[in-house]
Amino acid sequence: ERTIKTQRSRLKIKRIKLMNQNRIIKKGSQFLKNKNIGSYLLDTEIILSDLLGISREKLILRDKFELSKKEILKFKESITRRAKYEPIAYIVKKKEFWKRNFFVNRETLIPRPETELLVEKIIKHFRGKSPYILDIGTGSGCILLSILEDINKARGVGIDLSKKALSVAKKNSISSDCFHRVKFLNKSVDDFINKKFDIVVSNPPYICKNDIKNLDNDIKYFEPKVALDGGNDGLDVIRKVIYKSKTILKTNGLLAIEIGNKQYKQVSQLLKIGSFREKDLIRDYQDNIRCIISTFIN
Ligand code: GLN
Repeated sequence: ERTIKTQRSRLKIKRIKLMNQNRIIKKGSQFLKNKNIGSYLLDTEIILSDLLGISREKLILRDKFELSKKEILKFKESITRRAKYEPIAYIVKKKEFWKRNFFVNRETLIPRPETELLVEKIIKHFRGKSPYILDIGTGSGCILLSILEDINKARGVGIDLSKKALSVAKKNSISSDCFHRVKFLNKSVDDFINKKFDIVVSNPPYICKNDIKNLDNDIKYFEPKVALDGGNDGLDVIRKVIYKSKTILKTNGLLAIEIGNKQYKQVSQLLKIGSFREKDLIRDYQDNIRCIISTFIN
C-alpha cells in the first residue's frame, strides 16, 4: 500500500512563485488529511518551515513568501513521503529532544518524550558531580549527549551494535560542547569487564516480536527493527542489560532503564534477582511506569 501511487492522489500545486502561505499549507494539510495522517496541519507546517529554514512560529506569522520551483517540488516530495507514513522526523532529519535538535535518520530510533523524563531524573541526581556513564544502545546518542551537556563534569561512553547508528550519534556530538567527554563505540556490553561506571543507562528495544506488526505504520514501516524488537517476551535485551550491569557498575552504581508499557512487574522481578534495589520509578504522561532507576547492591 505504501508504494501505490495513483494519478489521482498526487499533490497538485501550480508552479506559481508567490504563494499565499495559507494556500500552500491548506493544500499540503488537506492532502495529508485525506490520507488519514492525524497530525496533518502540524506536519505540513513543520515541513514548510524546515524547507524555508525558519521556525514554525515565524512561518505562522508570515503571510506571503516566495517559493522557487525547486522548493515547491521539495515541498510536494516531503508531503508525499509523509502521506506514505514516513515519520516527520526522518523527513526533516531532526527531532527535538531535551534542550536541542538531534539529527536522526532511518538508522536510529526517533527520540521519544518519555525518554526525556529519564534524562531529567538522571541530570537531577548527578548535578554538580562527575559520573562516568555507559549508554547501552545509544542510537542517536540523545540520552547520553543530553546528560553530558547538562552535567559538565560527566564523561560517558555510548555503545551500539549498529555502526550506522553510531555515525548518527557521532554527528550529534560534533557540534556539542561535550565532544571531548564522550566516546561512541561499536561494542557489545559483553566487551566491558571492569566495574567502573557510576551509571548504566539504556532505552533498550523492548517490544515483543509478535507485537511489532500491530504498531503504527509510521513506526513499523520506518523505524529500525533492531531498535524495537525485544524478542519473544520483549525482555531479551532488558534481561541482558540487567545481568551485564552487575559486572560493570561500581558498588552502589545506578541502573536507569526504560521499559515498555506493561513490563514493570516482570522487570522488577529481574532486578530483585539481580541484586538491584529500586530507587525511583518514572511514569509517563499516561501514568504508566516507564523507567526504573535502581541501585546495585553488591
Ligand atoms: N537510546 C536511543 C533513544 O533512546 C535509542 C534507543 C533504541 O534504539 N532502542 O532514543
